Amino acid sequence: MGHAVVTGSASGIGAAVAAGLRKEGFDVIGIDLKGAEIEADLSSHDGRRDAIKAVIGASGGAIDRLVLCAGLGSHLEDLPLIASVNYFGAIELLDGLQGALKRGNEPAAVAISSNSARFGPFDDHPFVLACLEGDESRAREIIAGENGFIAYGGSKHALARALRRRSKTFGADGIRLNGIAPGPTETAMLQSTREHPIYSKGFDALEIPVGRYGTAEEIADFILLMMGPKAAFMHGSIVYLDGGNDAATFPDRF
Ligand code: NAD
Repeated sequence: MGHAVVTGSASGIGAAVAAGLRKEGFDVIGIDLKGAEIEADLSSHDGRRDAIKAVIGASGGAIDRLVLCAGLGSHLEDLPLIASVNYFGAIELLDGLQGALKRGNEPAAVAISSNSARFGPFDDHPFVLACLEGDESRAREIIAGENGFIAYGGSKHALARALRRRSKTFGADGIRLNGIAPGPTETAMLQSTREHPIYSKGFDALEIPVGRYGTAEEIADFILLMMGPKAAFMHGSIVYLDGGNDAATFPDRF
C-alpha cells in the first residue's frame, strides 16, 4: 500500500484515523504540533509550507490518502487562531498536496467539518466570505470581534463550502474529495469545551436522538469507508455523522 497523510494525528479523531489507516496497510505520515512523524504548526503559512515540503520528501511526491483533522474548539480565547488552524490550516494543506494526490493510487481526501457548521448565520457572514476568498488576515481581523461559536462554526462552514467548490478541479484530477460533519465526539477537544464555564452550556441544549456522543473510532471508521473502494462514487459530499443531532434540530431543512 502507499502513503496516507493525516493532520492532527496525535490525538482524538486524527489518532484513530491514523491507526485505522496503518491497519489497512498504509504508511502513515502524521502531522501535528508534537508526537507525529512531521511536527509542524498549521496555524501559520510557514508551518504549512514546511509540512507540505516534509510530506513530499517523506512520500516521494505521491500520496493516496489525505485526512485533514487538525482543529481547535470553540472554547479557545484566541479566535483568530481557530480561524487559522480550522480553515486555512486545512485548505492550504489540501491545495498544497493536490499534485501529490494526483500522482497517488485511487486517491481520496476527507476534511473534518462539523455539524455546527449550520448552527449560525453563516451564509453571507463576512468572516466566512473572507475565508473563502483566501484572505487570512481579513478573516482573522473580522473574527477577533466575534465569539467562539462564530469562529468555530464559521470556520467549519467555510471549510465545507471550500470542499464543495473544489469538487470539479479535484474530480478532474481523479481525486475524490469529501467532508464529514461529526456531532459531539468523545475526544480531548470535547472534554475541554465541556469544562469551559460558557461554552459548556451549549451541550445541555443538544438533542441527540441516539442518546450519546460519538467516539473517535466511529468517526474514523466512517472516514476510512469514505476513502475506500466501497465509496468509489462518493465525491463532493459532506456527511453528517452525529447520532441524529442535525436532523432533530432542523427536521425540515435539507
Ligand atoms: P483533538 O483535540 O483530540 O485533536 C486535534 C488535534 O489537532 C490535536 O492533536 C492538536 O495538537 C492538533 N492541532 C491543533 N492545532 C494545531 C496546529 N496549529 N498545528 C498542527 N496540529 C494542530 O480533537 P478532535 O476532537 O479529535 O478533533 C479533530 C477534528 O474533528 C477537529 O477538526 C475538530 O474541529 C473536528 N470535530 C470534532 C468534534 C468533537 O466533538 N470532538 C465534533 C466535530 C468536529
